[in-house]
Amino acid sequence: MRFSPHLRKVSQAKRALTRTVLARQYICGVIFVQYGMIVAKFGGTAVTPRNLIYLKRIVTPAYGAVVVSAVGSEFYGDVKVTDLLLEYFQSGDESVWQRIADKYLRLAEVNGVNADVQSLLAEVKSRARSRDAAYCSSVGEELSARIVAVYLNRNYVEAEETIRFDGNGKLLVAETYSNVRKVFARGCGVMGGFYGGASGGRATFGRGGGDVTGAVVAAALNASLYENWTDANGVCVADPSKVHGVTTVAGMSYSEMRLLSLAGAEVLHPDAVSPCEQLSVPIRIGNFFHPDGASTLVSRCPSRSKLLSIAEKETDGVFVATVLHSYPTWQITSAVSDFIRTLTRGQTALGRSYTPDPPVFRTEIDKRVVRIYSRQSVLNALYKCLSAL
Ligand code: ASP
Repeated sequence: MRFSPHLRKVSQAKRALTRTVLARQYICGVIFVQYGMIVAKFGGTAVTPRNLIYLKRIVTPAYGAVVVSAVGSEFYGDVKVTDLLLEYFQSGDESVWQRIADKYLRLAEVNGVNADVQSLLAEVKSRARSRDAAYCSSVGEELSARIVAVYLNRNYVEAEETIRFDGNGKLLVAETYSNVRKVFARGCGVMGGFYGGASGGRATFGRGGGDVTGAVVAAALNASLYENWTDANGVCVADPSKVHGVTTVAGMSYSEMRLLSLAGAEVLHPDAVSPCEQLSVPIRIGNFFHPDGASTLVSRCPSRSKLLSIAEKETDGVFVATVLHSYPTWQITSAVSDFIRTLTRGQTALGRSYTPDPPVFRTEIDKRVVRIYSRQSVLNALYKCLSAL
């Protein structure tokens, strides 16, 4: 076909315009995927009837993906949905299922979620015990994500089709990352954490594994930030319920976070660090009750404070205090010896320990870890001593 010079010019101009528009859209898309996206993971305490409103206040249009846990503990002594599901799998006890169902019915009702939760529960129940324990424990996250998606007016993303495991329960990284990119390119979605699909059923990342799902999604989308929302002010130097006036560690490196998680700090699953570290996605651990309050940023930068954490556990009358630090060995050794000396002197002066049975009976001083074994809690005194260094 032959065009007049005028028409040819018009069609050339149109094509150039289309090319520019497409290029702009592509660039905007790339910028969004590269820099603009935040991935948020909410732990079980946020997904409770009373607290779901805090989640809604946080999730703005800047969020590319939201990962949720099963309904968590609602009050002191309450049992988490995941534990109830494991019990239900073992016993088949109808009253246990009813307790689970009640939690989701209240979650939707209290927050005015416009969804037919009765039918959803009936459908999920029909398959909950049809396979193995992993499958049954995963339906809590599925229910949360389905309800939260309606609540936030976002797409529901099925984790079984997105996060994929091999037959040995190992994450299929390439397949999972490509699924995540495809599914979240359609817009912000809400997905259940903790589980994924495996041949013939589902597999999980293990208890607390919702953190790992969030990290995998953040890495796959090359997010600008992975936010992990809990009910604590980030990572505190010691348990704030046991030690008065403890501070939050403002920032730490990925390896410090991994060290802390492996030492038993229950803030972040240890396997949630590597996916973010590989792509330098920073992790922010914050309190959903106070989103602008104290939080911890995990990145390539090491902590500015030399004292990272002090945790204490008691088994059979033996207290083990674990200190994670970055003091030079001479300094920590001398501080710990002084501490033990004062403690023993104090005991004698108070007349509580006349026997050659000192409160601290063993110490292990490693490059970054110190362990103090004692017959009584030394947590408060140790915090006071080391935070003054
Ligand atoms: N719901 C699971 C658990 O209680 C996973 C999670 O919350 O991350 O362990």
